[in-house]
Amino acid sequence: MMRALICGLAAALLLAQTAMAQDRRVAVTFDDLPFQADAVTMCDPARLMAIAHDFTAMLKPLDTHATAFVNAGRVCEAQRDAVLPRVLNVWLDAGLDLGNHTFSHINIHRTTPEAYLADVDAGAPAARAALEARGMRLRWFRHPYLFTGETPAKHDALAAGLAQRGYVIAPVTLDNNDWMFGDVYRKAEQIGDEALKQRIGAAYVAYMTAVLDVMEPYSAELTGGREPAQVLLLHANSLNQAWYPQIHALYLARGYRFVPLEAALADPIYAHADTFVAANGVSWLHRWTQTDGRPIRWGPKPPAWIVAANAAPASELEAIAANQTAP
Ligand SMILES: [Zn+2]
Repeated sequence: MMRALICGLAAALLLAQTAMAQDRRVAVTFDDLPFQADAVTMCDPARLMAIAHDFTAMLKPLDTHATAFVNAGRVCEAQRDAVLPRVLNVWLDAGLDLGNHTFSHINIHRTTPEAYLADVDAGAPAARAALEARGMRLRWFRHPYLFTGETPAKHDALAAGLAQRGYVIAPVTLDNNDWMFGDVYRKAEQIGDEALKQRIGAAYVAYMTAVLDVMEPYSAELTGGREPAQVLLLHANSLNQAWYPQIHALYLARGYRFVPLEAALADPIYAHADTFVAANGVSWLHRWTQTDGRPIRWGPKPPAWIVAANAAPASELEAIAANQTAP
């Protein structure tokens, strides 16, 4: 008993020393602005403004320095020109930066580089106007699905087209499946199951902890033991409205400082060569690892019941959750 206790304390001390030895930094990013929600919400200007106010009010005291990536085409065409600039101003008022995530969340695997770049251009004006009105500049670009082109020709055409437009690619190191938990959370909201919403949120925090347990040492393998500044991908949705503060607390407890995207990208790791070309949207940690000729180690998967509930209609959610004994 005593020996187990001493071993446990020693292990905890070692973990704490490792954390303190690392200068942990993370740039938080939220994709899919204005919000991941149903079509009715995306056609409701008052609701979209309320969502933007609530989400940024949640973020503001946390001082995240986050960058948010916009899909202008998520907002109904009839309301877009009136409401999108106002929504983006709410985000900028809260001290957040904005980037382009294409107009329609286009999938490069199903289109040509020309059509993709036209969608990039269509996604720019609202964010650019909102930024330039404050003396800021639209420079960040985030690929939908993290797909960067599944053939060398498409990959190179996208990279050249984005560079020619002056965009800086916003890579992701801490990729995860928050969107999958977010989908299941929306289903729990639809059926009004508060207990299930709590359970999904708790499973989300546990999963995000497991992601860090794997990805922190994995990232340090690229840099001789030093953990690079990370870029965390999350989505603007109701799950993160409710649960991002707990994710934030998780990072704080592990010694992270929250830095702007530009500060994270100043880490030399982001100059690493990237020869990854595949029909898959993966973390830049995996791209660099493969470029270095080492095997990719994938991160943890969400619990089976979250995966099953993501694939099923909301009407089956409670039955799926009831059949699981694990959190
Ligand atoms: Zn997206």
